[in-house]
Amino acid sequence: MTLPAPTPGPADAAGRVSNNDWWCSGNPLFLEPYWRRHAGASAVVVSGWHRMSYTATDGVFQSVELERQIRRLHRAVGNAVTDGKHVVFAAGSLQLINALVYALSPDVNAASPPALVVATAPYYPTYRTQTKMFDGREYKWGGTTALWGNASRSSTDGGFIEFVTSPNNPDAQLQRPVLGGSSAAAIFDHAYYWPHFTHIPAPSDEDVMMFTMSKPSGHAGSRFGWALIRDEKVSKKAYEYVQNSVMGASRDTQLRMLGIVKAMLANLHGEEDIFAFGHEVMRSRWRRLSAAVSRSRRISLQKMAPEYCTYFKRVREPSPAYAWVKCEREEDEDCYEALLKAKIITRTGVGNEAGSRYTRISLLKTDDDFEVLMERVTDLVDAEKNGD
Ligand code: PMP
Repeated sequence: MTLPAPTPGPADAAGRVSNNDWWCSGNPLFLEPYWRRHAGASAVVVSGWHRMSYTATDGVFQSVELERQIRRLHRAVGNAVTDGKHVVFAAGSLQLINALVYALSPDVNAASPPALVVATAPYYPTYRTQTKMFDGREYKWGGTTALWGNASRSSTDGGFIEFVTSPNNPDAQLQRPVLGGSSAAAIFDHAYYWPHFTHIPAPSDEDVMMFTMSKPSGHAGSRFGWALIRDEKVSKKAYEYVQNSVMGASRDTQLRMLGIVKAMLANLHGEEDIFAFGHEVMRSRWRRLSAAVSRSRRISLQKMAPEYCTYFKRVREPSPAYAWVKCEREEDEDCYEALLKAKIITRTGVGNEAGSRYTRISLLKTDDDFEVLMERVTDLVDAEKNGD
């Protein structure tokens, strides 16, 4: 089979012509075979008259039952403490980025300057692009945490809002906030804090956490995310944001998610545990890719070690969602371009403010796409040996 050459996509924020986004995105299709096996149990049929209203009962946009099942899922997995937290649904966690920044920013009438929204490089670029899109009176993009070092802003200065992605996209490391002090608020993005991507050392109990269904179940197209928020005032502001922008997460989606979460819960720790399935796929992909790359002097990957996981109750092998590639040769200053020549489509580290020596490979793709990736990586490494 002859595969089409990668098609160039639109220019990225830095003005570079980037790749065709689908080939390198975090599209979580590695879980499709799992749901094929559970096609019946996870199916939802919605007749034409059903769920037509904007709201569920009493003018509420969120399904009480779905919220209950999500709390059960966190408790069963042990990845987040939901007691004492308010739950806010959104159309994917992408919508939560701005909802939470808005909710944590000083009020428009406050005399303080805008809050500065920051993240540690390499970070998920949407924090920057979305904040810049809405930059305004209450908050603005403040760049990477490295720019601020030990700087502290008093609460009258507007403070910092720091995105902490744990595990991180792109390099899969567990992260802690870098900026401290009473004027710094942290938003923990736990999109990948699930046992198929990382060990779970303890339940996360942060003030503001965001989750998405896109990565644990793989239903990215349903566009469903949720935030767990300790402070009631902050949760009300986030809810108000979602209400004003999209009038609550789609009720069709909420119904589908209810079926999916219930199917996940019914199988936990059994033979058909979705996290055991997901971990096995991701672990094997990481092992194969690392073995191939270990023969190369041209490219290297992030270092990852086996760690104890409270969910599996054993030491588990690494299984990151992304490989964070570094090009080692002087002439491969643009790692994205170097890999593209070998028909390996990646996402440049420029967008993560990590520089062009780095680039990200998504490991969440379909089995077929992963096999093609392995062929091309193997060819690249073999070519080195042959002195090509
Ligand atoms: N946060 C991180 C760290 C992500 O990687 C992604 C998706 N790639 C998102 C948020 C957004 O996820 P979604 O909008 O699909 O919920």
